[in-house]
Parts: sequence; C-alpha cells; structure tokens
Amino acid sequence: MMTIEANPENHVFAADVARLLHMMVHSVYSDRDVFLRELISNAADACEKLRYEAIAEPALMAGEAATRITLTLDKDNRRLMIEDNGIGMSRDEMIEALGTIAHSGTRAFMERFEAEKAGDGAQLIGQFGVGFYSAFMVAGTVEVASRRAGSEQAWLWSSDGKGAFTIAATEDAPARGTRVTLNLLDDADKYTERHTVERIVRQQSGHVPVPILLIEKPG
Ligand code: ADP
Ligand code: MG
Repeated sequence: MMTIEANPENHVFAADVARLLHMMVHSVYSDRDVFLRELISNAADACEKLRYEAIAEPALMAGEAATRITLTLDKDNRRLMIEDNGIGMSRDEMIEALGTIAHSGTRAFMERFEAEKAGDGAQLIGQFGVGFYSAFMVAGTVEVASRRAGSEQAWLWSSDGKGAFTIAATEDAPARGTRVTLNLLDDADKYTERHTVERIVRQQSGHVPVPILLIEKPG
C-alpha cells in the first residue's frame, strides 16, 4: 500500500528528463529487462559509496555492517521492490539525482538521441545505460523511499513519469539506504516471477560485488 504523506511538495522534472521519460514510456524497446540491471547497479553503487564514506566516518556503518541488496517480489500487488542498505539520499540529493540528468551517460544518450532524431530511441536505449529512468519502461508509478546514512529523517520520492514528481517526509523507509518500489504495468507482471527475476539477475548482474537476496512476499 502506498503511504499517504502529509504535504507532499510538487516538483517538475528538468526539460531533458521529461523528454527522456516520454521516450521511456513510449518506447517500443523490446529488451525491457535492462531496468533491473540499472536499479541493481545503483543499489550496488550506493553500498560502495557507504563503504567509502565510512572510512572517514565509521559511525555511518552503525546498525548493519554488511551491505546487501534485497529484491522483493509482490505478486498480489504486482510490485517489485529493490532495496539496499547503502548510503541513501537526503531530500536535496533526491531532487538533484532523480529530477535532473546529472549522469553523463544519460546526457550522452540524450545528445545522441536529439542529434539523430532517432525515432523512438529504441536502439540507443540498448547501447547506452539509461539509468534510473528506465524504471518507467516497466512501471506506471515509481516510489523511492530513502534515508541517508547517519540521518534520522527519511524521504519519499514518487512519480508517474509524466512530467512531475513529489517529495514528502516519510517514516516508511529502510533504516539506512533506499527502497525503490515499482508498481508494474499490466504487461510487466512477469517481473514478480522468481524464475524471471533470477534469470535476469544471473545474466545481467553476475558481477555485482554485493549479495543480492530474493524474497517472495507471501500472498
Ligand atoms: P548513474 O547511476 O549513472 O549516476 P542513474 O540514472 O542510474 O545514473 O542514477 C542517478 C543518480 O541517482 C545516481 O547517481 C545516484 O546519485 C542516485 N541514486 C539512484 N539510485 C540510488 C540508490 N539506490 N541509492 C542512492 N542513490 C541512488
Ligand atoms: Mg545508475
């Protein structure tokens, strides 16, 4: 269930993000599986960043010292959750990271796309890693709940990928790190199936240096 938050703040996406999202939503790109690789790679990066920051500030690792990524398959609600106990994001980091295209690979993709006026961008999606926003190839709405290491306060980012997102304070977030919840599209329900998700993880995320756990939410 989506938590109702008091006073969510509305933000609009930067113009290039809005264009990228429009492309993701309308993409006929057939290999949608790549979204999982992208979200797992972000989770692993966040664990790596925590370990790095904890060299100078060991207290950041307090609580859980071992980093991990947990995938939760929720068939009944047609949801997939990707959770890590990495560095997490503050409110401002969320607005910056999930509202603009800071990432150079995604920027390069957009430049190529605009330069070639490449139809639906389908081929380019495969060539470039298109990052977080690829979640909207499989999800109608995406929620990101995050608590930065060392912080009490957690934040919920939420969007349907149609031009705007909201940010609100939340208590329903990992003790440390980030949980991305994908409310899957009708035709993307296979991403709640264990064998499908296991196959994709094995094929695309075998090199990830953080353990990946798979949980099926009992129906
Ligand atoms: P990239 O990973 O190449 O920077 P992405 O589009 O995949 O680009 O992600 C954008 C940014 O969002 C990341 O750089 C990071 O700052 C932030 N982010 C995404 N997922 C997470 C996460 N699980 N934990 C912490 N930060 C994240
Ligand atoms: Mg990434």
